[in-house]
Amino acid sequence: MSSTSLVQNQMYKEVDEKIIFEKASQFAKEYLESVFERNVYPTEEALFDLGKFDESMPQNSSKANDVLDFLNQIGSPATVATTGARYFGFVSGGAIPVSLAAKVISTFWDQAPAMHVLSPIGSVLETVVEKWLKEIFNLPASTVAGFVSGTSTANFCGLAAARFRLLSNLNWNINDKGLFNAPQLRIVTGKHAHSTILKAIGLLGFGKENIEWVDVDAQGKLELNNLPQLDDRTILILQAGNVNSGSFDNFSELCTIAKKAGSWVHIDGAFGLWAGAVDKLKHLTKGIEGANSWAVDGHKTLNTPYDCGIVLCKDEDAIKSALHMAGSYIVTSDKRDGMFYTPEMSRRARVIELWATMKYLGKKGIDEMILEMHKRAVQFSTEIMEVEGFSVLNDVVFNQVLVSCADDDLTDKVMKRVQELRECWAGGSVWNGKKVIRISVCSWATTASDITRSVNSFKHALNEIS
Ligand SMILES: *Cc1c(COP(=O)(O)O)cnc(C)c1O
Repeated sequence: MSSTSLVQNQMYKEVDEKIIFEKASQFAKEYLESVFERNVYPTEEALFDLGKFDESMPQNSSKANDVLDFLNQIGSPATVATTGARYFGFVSGGAIPVSLAAKVISTFWDQAPAMHVLSPIGSVLETVVEKWLKEIFNLPASTVAGFVSGTSTANFCGLAAARFRLLSNLNWNINDKGLFNAPQLRIVTGKHAHSTILKAIGLLGFGKENIEWVDVDAQGKLELNNLPQLDDRTILILQAGNVNSGSFDNFSELCTIAKKAGSWVHIDGAFGLWAGAVDKLKHLTKGIEGANSWAVDGHKTLNTPYDCGIVLCKDEDAIKSALHMAGSYIVTSDKRDGMFYTPEMSRRARVIELWATMKYLGKKGIDEMILEMHKRAVQFSTEIMEVEGFSVLNDVVFNQVLVSCADDDLTDKVMKRVQELRECWAGGSVWNGKKVIRISVCSWATTASDITRSVNSFKHALNEIS
């Protein structure tokens, strides 16, 4: 008997016995039970133990049971508790319980919604969620969605669609003729554009040096009176949710100017576009429907598990042409074939968790959950300002709070101490030339007492140092 069939026999046995699946489910449950109370960041010991993974490529196969035990024993303590209630680093969403459960089911289905024929369920859910997203963000009827890994990719896709359309309007087919000798397009964006926008600009061959930078105001919003003259060769890139301050560009006015000039507007709304789904916050996204493409994450504000971004594009032909592929074995249908809206052909059916989240929360639940994040951010800001030695440097319009101490050195030290205390976790950034500790309230799980507990940890850290 060859070793391959030995492994095959073993795998059939694992499927029959199902012990490893019960085990995985048990580990998952134990994790869930501890994640709200445990240290938010792994201990030094847990990080040290990660060295145990560093072995040479195994020559022989292992018992599945042992693989799982090893993973859980060393891996679990070394996770960052981003699904807990006091992780405020970067802009990291929590994970809605039902979205995790739906992900478990979808893991077993292992669908690839490249084509309808490959995954009818994936195709149908993508069609349904596309419709829901259009409704919730109030986007034009012609808008289509591509389900990608995150906003980095969604920004790339939106800008690829822009490049295709503006050049094709100038009789230049980018797919056939390429970028060498193409008519030059212009990129106009604010000085606070997210780094993934710059990455996409590099990848698409525009060149960062060619960006026409627009000054921003004290909150990071693009300043209208500094906007250069726009034209039909211009891609204007705006932002719904500044990654530091959480501020929003003035979409109504900017989109109106851009439309008159024949420019393409792309909005990076990774976490901020969701303000549009909240009655009391939707003034922030007023006018976004005037853009041509939008990028947004499910895995931030909406709290789906990771690996969930969406590109939305008003111009179906542009995005499909930009991301198009063909092959003799491709089977297209009159239904949705997902691969025409994404750079990948094969990809996981991430729409399943997104669907489960939206189905579970409904419009009201989404509104309530995101408004709560805003309220908790405001609470953090109010409580930290009451502590002698801390200031808040931004207007807390959404979920971001920028905190600083008397000077950069002290801010740095307090941040490091807060991180060591592991009661909560927040990272650093620079705001208008000053070092800041950046708080992003982005989890369904954060309660008022989590905020007070975290503010106390900040207070404690400052007391210890000064
Ligand atoms: C997080 C973020 C991105 C990148 O999104 P990913 O999902 O991490 O790829 C882009 N823009 C803004 C404003 C963000 O906050």
